[in-house]
Amino acid sequence: MNASYVDKILCPRCEATLPFTAEVCPHCGSATRPIGQPGAGSDDAGGPSAPPLLDRPWVVLSLLFFVMAILGLPLLWKSRAFSLAAKIVLSIVVTLYTLALFAGVGAICVWAYRRVVEAM
Ligand SMILES: [Zn+2]
Repeated sequence: MNASYVDKILCPRCEATLPFTAEVCPHCGSATRPIGQPGAGSDDAGGPSAPPLLDRPWVVLSLLFFVMAILGLPLLWKSRAFSLAAKIVLSIVVTLYTLALFAGVGAICVWAYRRVVEAM
């Protein structure tokens, strides 16, 4: 009795008794097991295991260079997308980038100021 129970499965839809090897129920046509093995793709699918935004290098890099500049350095150091060496190098680059940005803005201000003074 137990032996016959083991090699039979129940159709999940119509509950007909089917041979264990059946993939499609002959009664209702329903698949007897989910398509795709559960667990096979669970490493990269699903919310909890998906990497947070901060762990994506390009998100952090665009924040640094287009939005926050030197203010984004804490984000860089919090991110797990970069190695320690990369963080040190990027910190220096972002600092220089921010200084250049300020220097550029300062130069424009000086240029505009001189134009105004010359016009008077
Ligand atoms: Zn069925």
